[in-house]
Formats: sequence, structure tokens, C-alpha cells
Amino acid sequence: MSQHETYLLDRCDLENSHTLEVYSEHSAKNRAADCQSGYPTLERILRTKQDVKAVVEEIKDSGLRGRGGAGFPSGLKMSFMPDPSKDPRPRFLAVNADESEPGTCKDRVLLREDPHGLLEGILIACYAMSAGTAYIYVRGEYRLEYQRVKDALAEARAAGLVGKNILGSGFDCEVWMHQGAGAYICGEETGLMESLEGKRGHPRPKPPFPAGSGLWGNPTTVNNVETLFNLPFILDRGATWYRGMGTDKSPGNILVGISGHVAKPGVYEVPLGIPARTIIEDIAGGVWKNRKMLAWFPGGSSTGLLPANTIDTAMDHDSIKAAGSMLGTGAMIVLDETTSIVHISRVLARFYDHESCGQCSQCREGTQWLHQILSRMDDGRGRLEDIELLSSLASGMAPGKTICALADAAAIPTHALIKNFRTALEAAASQVDGAKAAAVPSTVTEPAKSVEASA
Ligand code: SF4
Repeated sequence: MSQHETYLLDRCDLENSHTLEVYSEHSAKNRAADCQSGYPTLERILRTKQDVKAVVEEIKDSGLRGRGGAGFPSGLKMSFMPDPSKDPRPRFLAVNADESEPGTCKDRVLLREDPHGLLEGILIACYAMSAGTAYIYVRGEYRLEYQRVKDALAEARAAGLVGKNILGSGFDCEVWMHQGAGAYICGEETGLMESLEGKRGHPRPKPPFPAGSGLWGNPTTVNNVETLFNLPFILDRGATWYRGMGTDKSPGNILVGISGHVAKPGVYEVPLGIPARTIIEDIAGGVWKNRKMLAWFPGGSSTGLLPANTIDTAMDHDSIKAAGSMLGTGAMIVLDETTSIVHISRVLARFYDHESCGQCSQCREGTQWLHQILSRMDDGRGRLEDIELLSSLASGMAPGKTICALADAAAIPTHALIKNFRTALEAAASQVDGAKAAAVPSTVTEPAKSVEASA
């Protein structure tokens, strides 16, 4: 594997990487000689009174796409905020640190090991959008991460980097923290805003979109942790440097959290566009126990499950989409040949059923039925018609038929499951009562031996 430039995780291995002292020493390449603060890129922007539009343009030029799953262009999203000279309402940034997608664990590393990188990114984003307040919504289970960011925030506040008149520039920005309570749906941007407002985290219909009517009806942008973490690098080193990594349409590096049946699961930094095979085999040590790969999720459990023969797909938004899935959060989950596709689908269907907020009947009923049908197939009580029933259910749920994308998150992988693993489903559905669906490889064309034996 050829070496690639890294930047996102470079500070994470330093001793006390979470402290302002260490961050300050290692943060910017293009640090002004007389830089006085711990956040050199922010300081340069404030000192030179860089035009807010120029900051947004630099982010747009970099081609940065959101790292929370949708991959929307980040600079464009910022430009959706109304012109402050025409709209005097207070403006907010909501930071989505509610990383709850099964398989996703990459923001956790940044929160825990490099919280000042996130805070500098937040302040730059607030400056660019003329937002005076940011809320960091941290997943409830991330206790150490919450504490690390809280401590970093206290350090930054004491150093005059957060609050009123930051570094004497006249720029005011308050940053507050909020701890989630364990609901997956609060990672959806409108559910997150409802929760921040002190209400039950029920997603809101869109429109209105957050930039027009977000927190308490005011202009709001919701950004993911890794997205914001990129900003100090882009503003320090420039859009051209950023575009030197990744692909034309998906520039930069991403963090992939690879888990499942690999020898070395973990969070790794790679350029977008790198082949999945390189990540799985060279970086993560290949499939464990000398087994063969059966399937993989490219970006978390809500992205379509792909068969092993797609392993040479490039890890960028367009290539993964062409392969029939989504880059999502870059949370790769690798399944070996002993995995029961039906069983894992059942487990995930249970998760979405449990996490549905229940506002939309398609989602409330659909996730429950997906779970029930997959459960009976997994328990050996399935019928061949169940495959078409799954397909029909998923078609009725998504896309775009519900308030938020949770129904899509359950339905889209169901379609991928039927398309890519129909044989495994048919084998499971052909079992007689009581015959548990064991490992049923996607390549099986005849009923599995265990099925024949029990029939
Ligand atoms: Fe709630 Fe599901 Fe509707 Fe989203 S799609 S609002 S989770 S019921």
C-alpha cells in the first residue's frame, strides 16, 4: 500500500493530545510568528478580519462534503444561512456528536483525543455563518468523550477563545454542551434540535429546513464532528491542498471505523477513493481466522449490504452509490463466511424497530413487520412469499415517504439484501419449523446441507 498524507488523526497519539497546550503546539502548519493563542487558524482569521464570505468560499472550493452520512457539500450548506444584514434573528450551529449508527465510532476518537480541533472548527464555522451560539450534542453513552470536550471547552474559555470578544476581535461566540439520553433518532438533525429545545426527540417535517427555521425557529446549521474538524486544516492549508487528496468529487481524507470480522478493527484515516480492498486487507489485516469474506456494509448498518465481490469498489460517494450502497459514515462492517445474513438482518431490523419514534405509520409498522418477518425466517418458520413481502414492505416505507430518514435506513438495506442475497433468503425461507438459519453463503444455489438434513 502506498503511503498517503494524513492530518485528521496526526495529533491523537501525542501524550495529552486533548489539552490546549499540546493542541496549540501542533495545530497549524502556517502559524503566524506572533501567534499568541492556542487556536492559530482562528486567530489569523480574526486578526485579519477575513471576510466571512471568503471563509465560506474557501470551504466551498475545498469540496468538503459532510461526514455525517449524507455527504452534502459543506460550504454550500453554510451558504444556505440567511444574510445577517437582512435577517437579524439569532443564529445557531448545532454540532452533531450523537454518533449512534451501528458500526460508527470515528467521531468518538476525535472527541476523546483531539477536542480542541473540534472546538476550533466550531468557532471557524460560527464565524463564517455569523452564528453567536453553538451547541455540541454528545451521545449519552460517550461519557469520557463528553468530559474531554467539557474540559477542553473550559480551557478554551479561560484562554479567551470562547465567549465575548474572542481574542479582542469583537467576535462573540458561546459554546454549550448537551448530553443525549441514548435515542438513535436524536442523531437526525431535526430530532436533535427538538431534543436541544428540551422536547422529546421527534423529527420535524422538512421544509422548513434548519437554515430558515431551526433551533427555536431561528437560522441553524447542523454539522457533524468530523466535518467541522476539517475546517481548521482547510483554512490553514487552503482548498488546493485539500483537493490534492481524495477524488475530484469526494476530496480529502475520511475516517473509516472498520469493525466486524477483520483482524485489526479500528478507526483509520484514508483518502476518499481508496479501494475498499486496501482498507480491509492491507490496513485492517484482512478477514480474521483465515476465513473468506461474505459481505460488507460500506458506511454503517443503514447502508446497503454488498457482496464480497464488490471489495474493489473505491470508497467515495459516487463509486459506492454505483455499487448499490452508500458511503454513509464510512463505518465499514465486514462479515465472514460463517455469518448468517438472515440473522444479522434480523438483529438490525430489531434495532430500527426499537428506535423508530412512531410518528409515521410506514416506519412504526414497517420496521416492526420487517423485524417479525426476518425473525420467523431466521427461526426456520419462513415462507418463500416472505421475500416479496419484505420487498413490498420496504417499498412502502421509503424513500421520502416519512418525516425522517429512519424508515429509509431500514428499507434501503432491505432492498439491497433482497437484490444481493436472495439465495440466502430463499434458503432460509425454505426451512421447516425449528431449523435455525445457520451460515448461508450468498453463493448457495441449492438448499443448504443443514436444510436438507432437517427436511
Ligand atoms: Fe419517527 Fe420513523 Fe417517522 Fe422518522 S421515519 S419521524 S423515526 S416514525
